[in-house]
Amino acid sequence: MRVMSQNRILVVEDNPKNLKLVRDVLTFSGFEVIEATCGEDGVRLAHEELPDLILMDLQLPGIDGMEALRRIRESDEAHVPVVAVTAFAMNEDRDRAFDSGFDGYVEKPISVRALPQQVRDFLQLGGSGGPA
Ligand code: MN
Repeated sequence: MRVMSQNRILVVEDNPKNLKLVRDVLTFSGFEVIEATCGEDGVRLAHEELPDLILMDLQLPGIDGMEALRRIRESDEAHVPVVAVTAFAMNEDRDRAFDSGFDGYVEKPISVRALPQQVRDFLQLGGSGGPA
């Protein structure tokens, strides 16, 4: 069992405006927010900080969100839920995201009103406790 906060969210997002929006909304809702602005940092923080949930932008400088997810899963025994955050232009993109092993997705533009509950719902996918 992991003895730590169950509401620590790692946000991997390279767009400063989007990052600020997500940070503000989640912090206001009582979540602890950890931030990375590229995939490599996201992978590193996923291992170092053991977040309870990861919100992963798909289009990032350097490795993209799908490659970052792949690297996180290489040594992720707890299977942290990883949620793709992206503007799906086509259903193909959505299918690719799910095929890549994401646990869900949040569509951009992000809904300030819906995001806190979306995050609570995704947290329930984790193995760290809470109702099933
Ligand atoms: Mn991006």
